[in-house]
Amino acid sequence: DSGRLTVIAGPMFSGKSEELMRRVRRATIAGVDVLVVSHSLDTRSDISTITSHTGVNIPAVPLGDSAFLAEAARQKDYDLIAIDEAQFFGAELIPAVDELLRQGFDVIVEGLCVTFDGQPFEPLPSFMAVAEEVLRLTAVCTVCGKDAVFHQRLEQKDSPIGSGPAKNAEAPQETLAATAIDASHIGGLDSYVARCRQHFTGADRGA
Ligand code: ADP
Repeated sequence: DSGRLTVIAGPMFSGKSEELMRRVRRATIAGVDVLVVSHSLDTRSDISTITSHTGVNIPAVPLGDSAFLAEAARQKDYDLIAIDEAQFFGAELIPAVDELLRQGFDVIVEGLCVTFDGQPFEPLPSFMAVAEEVLRLTAVCTVCGKDAVFHQRLEQKDSPIGSGPAKNAEAPQETLAATAIDASHIGGLDSYVARCRQHFTGADRGA
């Protein structure tokens, strides 16, 4: 029998990693042999684990390329292959996952479906089109608290990351206030924030 494809997709901070870990934990309890795969380019954490923004982590096998997927899946008699941050693998992941599914492995693909400038981010949209199950998650807008379907990069001058307090003493008050909120949400690890459609301004920034 062919396998079943589940997709977990959304912007940053939408709980994709948490949901992937929850499903992996449940499958393990049920006696399912799970291979958790991450991309070795993902520098968010130790490469042999996947980590959520809440700091929880589980072991994972880092791969540099989707060409190694089939081989890794065959090493043990795995039932389920869970792929974290799938966008790192690029479009090559599509045929690689298709092969796994045809061979009978169940696959969970988790990743960003939108770029920081608001564009569809392959390969997630393609996987969403053909999956048996799609879980589309939203984050919380850091301005208004509504559902955030986007994430955007903080402008460097707004960002406290790695540079201590904003250097520009003349920065408007609301910028400094927003910075404080963002910093608490992202734990100082990176410089992205979740935004709803109304408060998303990322599309016209890098242009
Ligand atoms: P993802 O993998 O989608 O980036 P994670 O599973 O790593 O998400 O982290 C989700 C967690 O991030 C939430 O449970 C919450 O604790 C935290 N978080 C921080 N900022 C936000 C935000 N703006 N919206 C929602 N959750 C946030």
